Amino acid sequence: MKIYTCLCLLFLAGYLVAQNNTSALLPMPNQITPVKGKPFTVRSGKTAIYLNQPELQFTAKTLQTILQDRMQAKVPLASESGRADIRLLVDPAMEGKEHYRIKITSKGITISGATAGAVYYGVMTMDQLLLGDACATAHKEISPIRIDDAPRFPHRALMLDPARHFLPVNDVKFFIDQMARYKYNILQLHLTDDQGWRVEIKKHPKLVGKDYYTQEQLAEIIQYAAQRNIEVIPELDIPGHTVAILAAYPELGCTHTDTLPKIVGKTTDLMLCANNEKVYSVYQDIIKEISSLFPSDYIHLGGDEAVIEKNWTQCSRCQAMMKKLGYQKASQLMIPFFSRMLSFVQENNKTPMLWCELDNIYPPANDYLFPYPKNVTLVSWRGGLTPTCLELTRKHGNPLIMAPGEYAYLDYPQLKGDFPEFNNWARYYFGKVVSIRPGIWRACRRSGSYHRSYGNFMGRSDTRH
Ligand SMILES: [Zn+2]
Repeated sequence: MKIYTCLCLLFLAGYLVAQNNTSALLPMPNQITPVKGKPFTVRSGKTAIYLNQPELQFTAKTLQTILQDRMQAKVPLASESGRADIRLLVDPAMEGKEHYRIKITSKGITISGATAGAVYYGVMTMDQLLLGDACATAHKEISPIRIDDAPRFPHRALMLDPARHFLPVNDVKFFIDQMARYKYNILQLHLTDDQGWRVEIKKHPKLVGKDYYTQEQLAEIIQYAAQRNIEVIPELDIPGHTVAILAAYPELGCTHTDTLPKIVGKTTDLMLCANNEKVYSVYQDIIKEISSLFPSDYIHLGGDEAVIEKNWTQCSRCQAMMKKLGYQKASQLMIPFFSRMLSFVQENNKTPMLWCELDNIYPPANDYLFPYPKNVTLVSWRGGLTPTCLELTRKHGNPLIMAPGEYAYLDYPQLKGDFPEFNNWARYYFGKVVSIRPGIWRACRRSGSYHRSYGNFMGRSDTRH
């Protein structure tokens, strides 16, 4: 009896799912209009795809692959609109560069968008329609529907850290594929840290070790992402998180640290010296090469977790600079340090980004580490300090990107015991934060391992509408 009940429920569940081709949509589109009528049927030898712009070639190929994978249907491209029942159209009259529409009737499918990227998003949504209506898809049928969709936020980013744990090019591409499915449009690559320098700089070849990306590989990643409407923003973390570059060029450190042994992967807490001309000339070269390699308007220069007391406070060169400039605190050296570094970003016509770092760091923080120039976009990341970053950016006029650690660090575990050594992150996700423990928070933040992040970033992608 129980078996029969189960079977009946299974049939009922299958029936209900078959009636709903919106069940796999994520993020949920702005407007879905059910359409009455017969489904569209993909017919071998008859169905064809027309595209009205050559820039839609990649999107058309993607749709062909989807139809092949989901329906085992080989659908060719048609050179004329009249011969195709699936039409991909760039329509510049549509408002919003990521705005797309899907119209499916028994006669055909039209996916139109303001740009090629918007049409690509329409195809990603089409894929989810096919997934959500598995029974119809198995019969090469697509239920009629109308969708009108555009994102609420223009900047929908994920950050990946191949500096601490190197990720081969194919793994980065796989990550980009998953981002594209859920319509994320920015990938920030954290390319340098204590544990590794991962980007080839032709003028300073000693920077890279065993695992790194050549400039040709990065160009390949950038193009792969661009085809999927994703922009890649490079991050070079300075003046802290710099053991990898200091291991290659020890003379870039402070006077009391340049002879210390630096073991990449073990040594931490060292900084670039603020009063050393070679630091500035090397980074001027690095930023120039990075600027020509990455087409993004942005370069992120880190600015977080600089252990100033162990470096600039104890360095005779830095102390001399403090005295000359009449500064009371070594942290004030961030002003001349970043004013020069940011000028290198600007002379390459890029816009700088920095992590929103506060002077006394943990609550109750009340001001910036140093006065950030107005053209710097800040990123809020420290657990519990987002309200202060919001208030300060509002007061000072800097743009702010939200990546609050307690909600947006997707590699943090969600369940007690999921991450044995730091097993209490679940409370953040369940919204019952009582207090934060910064030592733990810092120890596992931005881990390069992204296996935990899939379910999380799929979930976060739905917050944009
Ligand atoms: Zn120094």
